[in-house]
Amino acid sequence: MEDPRTALESLGLPNLDVHPPFNHYDFTRQPRIILVVGPMGSGKTEFSARVWRDAQVLRRKSEVFAVQTTESGADRRNVFFVRSSLDRKRFPNYPPDALAFRGGYERLGNQIATVEDTWQLEEVIRAHPDFGTWIVDEASFYEERLAYLIREYHRDRRLTFILPTLILNFRNEIFNQTARLLLEVATDVFPLTAYCEHPDCSLDAHQTWRYYSLADRQIPAPYFDPLIIVGGDARSHDARQPNYETRCSRHHVLPAKVYTFLTLRPLAERYRRGLDRDLITEIRNLAHLPRQSLLAHQLEKEGQEALAILDLPVLAERALVYLCAEAGLLTLAESVRIIRSLDLDEVYFRMRIQDQQGYRLGQETKTPEGESS
Ligand SMILES: [Zn+2]
Repeated sequence: MEDPRTALESLGLPNLDVHPPFNHYDFTRQPRIILVVGPMGSGKTEFSARVWRDAQVLRRKSEVFAVQTTESGADRRNVFFVRSSLDRKRFPNYPPDALAFRGGYERLGNQIATVEDTWQLEEVIRAHPDFGTWIVDEASFYEERLAYLIREYHRDRRLTFILPTLILNFRNEIFNQTARLLLEVATDVFPLTAYCEHPDCSLDAHQTWRYYSLADRQIPAPYFDPLIIVGGDARSHDARQPNYETRCSRHHVLPAKVYTFLTLRPLAERYRRGLDRDLITEIRNLAHLPRQSLLAHQLEKEGQEALAILDLPVLAERALVYLCAEAGLLTLAESVRIIRSLDLDEVYFRMRIQDQQGYRLGQETKTPEGESS
């Protein structure tokens, strides 16, 4: 690429701070696997829409381009957008073929499809052999198979894949096993950032912060909060439904991580091995006397903002979802027994368990024993 500094100097401009220019998408480049990563609001979908718009421009150019953009019958200027069925309810007010982003949408006609899983994705790819660029939105939502499927089509069919996705979860950890594998097979990464949404801060931020609204307070989600909570984009004032903000690392408060590993998990280990029933005491306290829990004791070391999580509803149920569906330390039957014996909220618990299973965490989840889920 031409050095932008040279171009400016030749215009007689003074020596300014020159930043990398924002380029149009280059369809003549060799097939790539591009991860577009960033928190919500960083413009991942807008990026996809721009690629699509650029493609429309290039398709109107002369046949000279076809030679540079076509391999094995697939033209990279033909862009197909694939979205996950898990995402369908996010934009109920747009036309079915709309690629919607903040501030607008593009209608993609027959160049957009919604698929359930990678098997359906493969069907769509096979049905459109002349399409060289595939945008697979929210790539981390798919099962792990996606990573190697994409790599094979990239190698064998010389296709380009653009994968806008969250790569970090609210704990600031790699989202799941699929995200981990995608990082391995990718050839390029476009990191996008958004402003930190903390009122006192405007740093570039790339972390997703989960919080709950409770009586006009923002309460951070605890580390052991259920990893996946299926829900809409609308801001919720129900302290059982999370909200998200983009935050810089300084303003990404994540209480109870130490507690989760130092106390909660070990208690469940001991309970499972029949050593003691301290777990039950702790779960009971979380539900009915949170300020007397071991959690409260630990949070005192983390400060006021962390202590606020003691006011959250269904704290005990959240811990049980974590221990059952994510840590695999309790079976579903055991968890339900505990829930019933302590008079906890079984509806909330089952809903969240379903969320974890629906999103194919790519982690070993305990199969329910003697329970239908
Ligand atoms: Zn900040």
